Amino acid sequence: MAYDDNNVFARILRGEIPNDTVHEDDQVLAFKDINPQAPVHNVVIPKGRYTGLNDFAENATDAEIAAWVRGLAKAAKETGVAESGYRVIVNSGADGGQEIDHVHGHVMGGGPMGPMVAKG
Ligand code: 5GP
Repeated sequence: MAYDDNNVFARILRGEIPNDTVHEDDQVLAFKDINPQAPVHNVVIPKGRYTGLNDFAENATDAEIAAWVRGLAKAAKETGVAESGYRVIVNSGADGGQEIDHVHGHVMGGGPMGPMVAKG
């Protein structure tokens, strides 16, 4: 799959769509999810053009991957759930439920996250 420069997260990175930023550095942007599924729900994206986790794992530099992992933890810390606990979800592809084709992690917390997946 080719990267689509008009995907929502690409537009957020260009400043065309506003976001509620919780952490930013030269490699990563973390912001509040527009439709939160938990009391705390952040989306953490690398600034590079990667469609999903497969593309990111295969083609990103080690520095980009490290920065994104650190960004996940920084988003948790900035939103007050680092100590209480949180869940990181990376939806990948159709069966994973990925809706936006720019690799991203969800950082969710603010209460018990419950069973890892819904059954059925
Ligand atoms: P996915 O289903 O691809 O793993 O997650 C995409 C996420 O992006 C969803 O949780 C959705 O609520 C969020 N989202 C979609 N559009 C926007 C937007 O314009 N702003 C923000 N902050 N989040 C968005």
